[in-house]
Amino acid sequence: MYICKKINTMKDLKEILKRISENNASFLGYPLAKDFSYQEFAPFLDLCLNNVGDPESPSTLTIDTKAIERKCISFFANMLSTNMDEVWGYVTNGGTEGNLYGLYLARENFPNAIVYYSESTHYSVKKNLHLLNINSIVVRSQDNGEMDYDDLDQILMNRRDKPAIFFLNIGTTMTEAVDDLDKIKQIISKYAIKNYYIHCDAAFLGCVAPFADPKPKFDFSEGVDSISISAHKFIGGPIPSGMVFAKRQHRNRIANSISYVGTLDTTITGSRNGLTPLFIWSFIEKHGIDGIKMRVKKSQGIASYVERKLNEIGYNAWRNKDALTVVFNKPSEEICKKHQLASERSIAHIICVPGIEKEHVDVLINDLINESVLVY
Ligand SMILES: *Cc1c(COP(=O)(O)O)cnc(C)c1O
Repeated sequence: MYICKKINTMKDLKEILKRISENNASFLGYPLAKDFSYQEFAPFLDLCLNNVGDPESPSTLTIDTKAIERKCISFFANMLSTNMDEVWGYVTNGGTEGNLYGLYLARENFPNAIVYYSESTHYSVKKNLHLLNINSIVVRSQDNGEMDYDDLDQILMNRRDKPAIFFLNIGTTMTEAVDDLDKIKQIISKYAIKNYYIHCDAAFLGCVAPFADPKPKFDFSEGVDSISISAHKFIGGPIPSGMVFAKRQHRNRIANSISYVGTLDTTITGSRNGLTPLFIWSFIEKHGIDGIKMRVKKSQGIASYVERKLNEIGYNAWRNKDALTVVFNKPSEEICKKHQLASERSIAHIICVPGIEKEHVDVLINDLINESVLVY
């Protein structure tokens, strides 16, 4: 191939490519699927491509893939128990942008609200709240990473008169814990909170949970207001991306200005990626609903294998129900580095994304066994 030849003549690039290829094959601790190929989209790399502005509103600049973007949004809207009459959405640059967007719509709806989120929430959310200048209160987490509902109850007891924004985790970063929407709704009705908004951060699980059986409660059939998903996680791809979904009424509240490019300025960034919707659509086409379901099942199977293997060698492994994330005692720095395991305090995790097979896990298990032999 032409491109590879060219890279071969450039020493620095060749080395970078080699490092990334090797490390792609070996990482076990991050939620990034590896089983994709988007070579077929190479011709698009030689073109200006831009989905500027609102995906439903054409621009005078017509070098976009918005038709495909809308198909992706519509497919996932169906998976999230709704349709395009009820919700609106767009392909983002990742989960962080979707969370920022959800919080932005929430603030426009209730300018004086307080945001409640658990201490297991992704680090980017604090920054988002800072950018939006919204008041917030951190709720304690339980040991498994789920929100501590008693703590939420205590906090709301004295604030029942204030509009509330609930920021829920549908799969926390460290332990893949899912906040329980029913329990939060019970507290909302206990204190008769009238003005509230629910945003779900489903960065990793948004592309998994809708295909799991049973499906965790977090979608539009449960009355949530917005959902953010990362696409480079369970779908996979070389460019970070995601999708955000919101009830149409919330988007309409902010869609009033026509910008210079002739489209509605409803998205966080103006210029937007035209390639990533193609990747997401090719994933949908390649697997179909049944294929994605099988992919989820297979990953769950690997996770259960990892949990068992780690426990056999004494690493106290556990996972939340049906999770792809297996949490265990943090091994040595050397092993964390070799297998690219993310860790927090005394725990580490393996995330069994598509592309990670039993053979990969066995290499880690052997390393752990050899290391403990050295120690004793
Ligand atoms: C990864 C992650 C994010 C951030 O998503 P990006 O796509 O990296 O911007 C937010 N929340 C959770 C729970 C995540 O796991």
